[in-house]
Amino acid sequence: MAKKSITEDAQDVMRAAVLIELGARIQVLESEVNLSRDRMIRLYQEVKGVSPPKGMLPFSVDWFMTWSPNIHASLFYNIYLFLKDLAGCTRFEALTKGYKLYLEHCERHSSYVMLSFTRAWTLVRFFDAGILQLTRCCSCTGKFVTRKQDSAHGAVCGSCQPPSRAGKSAKAVPRITEDEAVEECTVAESVAGEESSSTLSSSAGMLPEQCEASCGQAA
Ligand SMILES: [Zn+2]
Repeated sequence: MAKKSITEDAQDVMRAAVLIELGARIQVLESEVNLSRDRMIRLYQEVKGVSPPKGMLPFSVDWFMTWSPNIHASLFYNIYLFLKDLAGCTRFEALTKGYKLYLEHCERHSSYVMLSFTRAWTLVRFFDAGILQLTRCCSCTGKFVTRKQDSAHGAVCGSCQPPSRAGKSAKAVPRITEDEAVEECTVAESVAGEESSSTLSSSAGMLPEQCEASCGQAA
C-alpha cells in the first residue's frame, strides 16, 4: 500500500467518523475509506461508545421492491442523484449529505426512518452495479426505484398505488438504529399508510432548495 500523507490520513479519519456517525457498518467503512480495520474499530468505539455490530450486511434487492421501503429508497436516491449530478457534490458528499436530508425529511413529516445508512449505501451500490434503475411513474411523473429489467411502460409508483392493506396496521414501528440490519426487514411489513404515500410526492416541491442549502454549506 502506498504511504499516505498525514493530510490524506486525517481526511480518511474524518470521513470514517462522518460515516460512523450516520450509522455505517464496518463493511461500509472498509469500502469507503483507506484505514486499517483495527483503527476503524477503535474509531467506531470512540464515536459511538460501543463496539461495532457484527454480522452480514443487508444485501437483498427484494427489500427495496417492497412497498414502503421502495418509497423511502426512491426518495433517498432522487436526493442523492440531485446532489451528485446537479449540485456538484462528490459521491461521498452526495451519500452523506443526501442521507442527512433524507433524515430531515422523515423528521419533518414525522415519518419512520426506514432506510438505514447502510441500506442507503447498499442501494447506491445496486445502482452502480446496474441492478436497479429509476423509472418514471406514469401517474405522478416522479421517479422511483425498479429493477433494471422491469418495463418502464405504464409503471406506477408505490405512492400512487398503495397496497390495499396500507394504513391498516396499528403496530408501532420503532426508529431504525445503527445496528438495525436484521429488524429492518420486519419493519417494512408493518408501516402505516398515510405518511408513506405522502413521502415521495411531497418531497418533490421542497427538494431543490433543501439540497442547494446543504451544498451551499459545504462550499
Ligand atoms: Zn406515482
